[in-house]
Amino acid sequence: MLEFDRAHIWHPYTSMTAPLPVYPVASAAGVRIRLVDGRELIDGMSSWWCAIHGYDVPELNAAARTQLESMAHVMFGGLTHEPAVRLARRLIDLTPTTLQHVFFADSGSVAVEVAIKMAMQYWFACGEPQRNRLLTIRGGYHGDTFGAMAVCDPVTGMHERFSGILPRHYFANRPHSRFGEPCSNEDIASMEALLSEHRAGIAAVILEPIVQGAGGMWFYSADYLAEVAVLCRRFDVLLIADEVATGFGRTGRLFACEYAGVEPDILCIGKALTGGYVSLAATLATERVARGVSADGGVLMHGPTFMANPLATAIGERNIELLLGSPWQARVAAIEDQLRRELAGYAAHPAVRDVRVLGAIGVVETHAPVDVAAAQQRFVDAGVWIRPFGNLVYLMPPYTIGTEDLSRLTAALALAL
Ligand code: PLP
Repeated sequence: MLEFDRAHIWHPYTSMTAPLPVYPVASAAGVRIRLVDGRELIDGMSSWWCAIHGYDVPELNAAARTQLESMAHVMFGGLTHEPAVRLARRLIDLTPTTLQHVFFADSGSVAVEVAIKMAMQYWFACGEPQRNRLLTIRGGYHGDTFGAMAVCDPVTGMHERFSGILPRHYFANRPHSRFGEPCSNEDIASMEALLSEHRAGIAAVILEPIVQGAGGMWFYSADYLAEVAVLCRRFDVLLIADEVATGFGRTGRLFACEYAGVEPDILCIGKALTGGYVSLAATLATERVARGVSADGGVLMHGPTFMANPLATAIGERNIELLLGSPWQARVAAIEDQLRRELAGYAAHPAVRDVRVLGAIGVVETHAPVDVAAAQQRFVDAGVWIRPFGNLVYLMPPYTIGTEDLSRLTAALALAL
């Protein structure tokens, strides 16, 4: 199996000429991933922010089985179904009351593409077609499709490789003010200057609220986010909040925008939406945006084959019910406390530049890039699953993890240093 895998299958961000090692998995249950050779690994990644309840969750298994009895899939063009309607109702209830319209997408990247389209079509239909640029902050990550790539960090993203092909957008400086700190004037000045200079060409500001994830795991000031929202209103620019990574409790709030009391015009969610079971995402919009898009009689130009897949939406609905019925706030707060206590010591390590914790996310930033393959091997040998990237060794375990398992994860971080 491994031989075939190496010869024929791409893994995320890998090469066919020099593939990196991968570990064959037999199954996963609770917070443990079991390898084919019988070894068990404590999961510190929630499979990239998704598996918030861990794996093999009886309630989600039951939701999948029940849905399979009636239909796994049916097209959404011209048809509708209960699972999609129930999930849309839930999402509208959970998010700010201004968000009343839901587009179901197949992945986080597609949810971002749809958000960008909504913003551009909105201004087009409102008679301002020149407003077709986006403004974002450096250090962001919004996905790997072309529209999303164009608003990822211009240095660490894929701009260089695709320069000349990607649309050119505006990039404000990454806020230096940390989460918990007030926003410095310097931080907001860069955003304000770009808005005041280029407002006439800007459709929307897009950002990851509070936590910049794959672009550097940086937690920034809630005041900064609140001030950006005020600027968007002042300059009449739409605000897109990309909560694909932060949504569903990871930061300690159901949505990270809540830290700043911000209500975006467009909201992207994904990842934990199905508890890590199947790919599903959504883009929500306000009445103003949804009606504005069609103000010229046009339609929102998107409609993927697997839109609102019944199996995915049924699992998504049950997943939200499960989350809301669980003591998730207490669990995330307990994980945060433990991460703070157990990661604090790493700050003194000579290889470490910074340690930061927010909600169920713990980050150790190193001075030099980590050798991922070597670190991964050490982690697997120690019975944990942690996957660093760049200068970042981080944990974001399922909310259901116990204190002993979490301690094994925090202790294991030393292996990468
Ligand atoms: N937006 C954010 C903030 C993300 O973190 C990600 C993925 O990591 C995406 C969008 C893209 O999501 P997907 O990988 O499901 O396309």
